[in-house]
Amino acid sequence: MRRLLIAIALFCIVAPVAIGQSKNSPVDKFRQLEEILPTPNDYRTASGAPGHKYWQQKADYAINVELDDVNQRIIGSETITYLNNSPDTLSYLWVQLDQNLFRADSDTALTQNAPEKMENVPAAVVDLLVNRRTDYGYNIVAVKDAKGAPLAHTIVKTMMRVDLKELLKSGQSVAFSVDWNFKIVDAKKTRARGGLEFFPKDGNYIYEMAQWFPRMAAYNDVTGWQHKQFLGSGEFTLEFGDYKVRITVPDDHIVGATGVLQNPDAVLNAAQRARLKQADTASKPVLIVTPEEAKANESHKPSGKKTWIYHAENVRDFAFASSRKFVWDAQLHRASGITDGTMAMSLYPNEGNPLWEKYSTAAIIHTLNIYSRYSFKYPYPVAYSVNGPVGGMEYPMICFNGPRPETDGTYSARTKYGLISVVIHEVGHNYFPMIVNSDERQWTWMDEGLNTFLQYLAEQEWEPKYPSQRGEPKDIVDYMLADTHDPIMTNSESVVALGPNAYAKPATALNILRETVLGRELFDFAFKTYAERWRFKRPMPADFFRTMEDASGIDLDWFWRGWFYTTDHTDISIEGVKLYNIDTKNPEIEKPLAKQQRSAEPETLSAQRNRPLAKQTEKDPALNDFYNTYDPLNITERDRAAYQTFLSSLTEEEKNLYSTGLNFYVVDLKNIGGLVMPVIFFIEYSDGSKEELRIPAEIWRRNNIQVSKMIVTPKEIKSITLDPHLETADTDLNNNFWPPRPVKSRFQIFKDRKNANPMQEREGKTKMP
Ligand SMILES: [Zn+2]
Repeated sequence: MRRLLIAIALFCIVAPVAIGQSKNSPVDKFRQLEEILPTPNDYRTASGAPGHKYWQQKADYAINVELDDVNQRIIGSETITYLNNSPDTLSYLWVQLDQNLFRADSDTALTQNAPEKMENVPAAVVDLLVNRRTDYGYNIVAVKDAKGAPLAHTIVKTMMRVDLKELLKSGQSVAFSVDWNFKIVDAKKTRARGGLEFFPKDGNYIYEMAQWFPRMAAYNDVTGWQHKQFLGSGEFTLEFGDYKVRITVPDDHIVGATGVLQNPDAVLNAAQRARLKQADTASKPVLIVTPEEAKANESHKPSGKKTWIYHAENVRDFAFASSRKFVWDAQLHRASGITDGTMAMSLYPNEGNPLWEKYSTAAIIHTLNIYSRYSFKYPYPVAYSVNGPVGGMEYPMICFNGPRPETDGTYSARTKYGLISVVIHEVGHNYFPMIVNSDERQWTWMDEGLNTFLQYLAEQEWEPKYPSQRGEPKDIVDYMLADTHDPIMTNSESVVALGPNAYAKPATALNILRETVLGRELFDFAFKTYAERWRFKRPMPADFFRTMEDASGIDLDWFWRGWFYTTDHTDISIEGVKLYNIDTKNPEIEKPLAKQQRSAEPETLSAQRNRPLAKQTEKDPALNDFYNTYDPLNITERDRAAYQTFLSSLTEEEKNLYSTGLNFYVVDLKNIGGLVMPVIFFIEYSDGSKEELRIPAEIWRRNNIQVSKMIVTPKEIKSITLDPHLETADTDLNNNFWPPRPVKSRFQIFKDRKNANPMQEREGKTKMP
């Protein structure tokens, strides 16, 4: 029974059912993607650009919100003005209620899988049992029409349907209002993209508020209403609009938010306003609130409330941060996409220093410079980086970043580069998906992958040999072989390993596309074309795939198919190398050569042992005849005459061909990993010369399992190395050499214990007697 099962399994492996190519290579990895991609239409063209009838909805918000610092609650009311640009008539609207994720009865809580190792992962269990309580989630107090009359509404988990009293026709707008409140989650305990952090030392809070107001669900030409519930991984699908937000907080709080502060005179003191002015011309960050002032605020008690008023135009979301603990620095970034420049600003508690004052705002400005080069100039007036409980999360014009030094002010390299990288990453999200507004709920890779790719480019321009975690092909090898490897084209909520799948793999794929497949010039033009085409619009995966081909002029369907739709990996091996030379037909050359080969053949074991035995023909020489001395490899006059006849039949051109002395090497290659990729040879010749041969992936188009490449050279090849610059993410380098090399490695008898924070060790040592 068992044997039978194995036999069936083997049969399946050798005879896959797939679209036919040939018996040798049953899958055509170069067939076009049209069978998978949606049919182009008037909204989205076959070139990957928005179509002439492209449309998107608009949602404007006027919000009043109060942050209750005593009870850690949000109390809000908003008026949403929704403009229906679609060709359709709508009878109801869908609103997102993301805070309901934290309810004890949310789908997220109910569908939480048991941890793989119960002994080792209590955090998920604790979160489920302790932190997710019934008092989290939205209290929707009222939903009213423009005249203040109640509107029928139905809450469906993390969404709410609002039934309109009149049909909303194409081109019409409707206004309605929602009043709500909720208890703010502790983002240090619950996995959340916003929330509070409590500091027991001084009794204060930092609030990072996100998904804090009921937001319009997206309605678009591809999905209609986006009604995939918020489960926690798949982020947001949102509409652009203008925001007028009034944020009321204790009067000793410092606030940062999406948008431009409208009433600095009412909320900032004279010194703060003067310092902000200095930041306009400063060459390094100017402190608006100093560490000493922030320290003094920690023991402060508010005497009342203040309302900070913000306006933001053409944004898809709104977030803010508030605390009396904030240090605040600012520096104007002049090369931005708007005339007055962009104010780059950081908010952080004293606990963030010395790292934050040194790196945060500097990293914001670096990000805007590099990202703008590869996409478009930053179009917003401010860009904040805020330190609080959230490890890393992005919103328009503001992002939350977690890394902090130790309490003694030292930090590990991991923390330092972790902070610079997360600031680059989260500020970078302004471009993808805050402006190139992809659907995060469906496709995490469209923003995280593209953003991580640009993050890698920005990191590599920060300092020499920057320790980037993602981007280099060699760093993706483990994931390509992992059991948890999903195709990139997997829904955000279904991906098993989100970091490697939606961040690292697409970032690496794009890096390979840029360096190895297209080259920097073609890639950069195509990528910029995509960014500019879909700036402030909503692209889908096909729009990206099509634009990259359309603008580069290179068919990349094989690349998208392999890297985005499959779990194939790169593993190409050199199976063997054969050397062929032309048979000159000249007996003076060929016969001695044949003799040489004959004498080089080893004597078999039996022949060796038989050699001393007395032979019958030696005892009786009369038994010898002609054939005992005849050697067919001796040159005869007949051979010479035949060669002369042959030569006289040749033209001059043909004669030259016979005398070139060229070597014809045939390199046999096997595609073990399944991914069709360019083949890069580094060839060393025995005369000491070297050569690189770069062969496009199309070498695999007729047979994607094994191919042979001929190299014609007058020289003798000493060695061949496949993928010499580690640019293809080849998972097994041991089969990349001809002749094969021993696999070298070292093992430790006793394991070293490394200190993760050598800075602390150094400073500790200086204090020792
Ligand atoms: Zn991200």
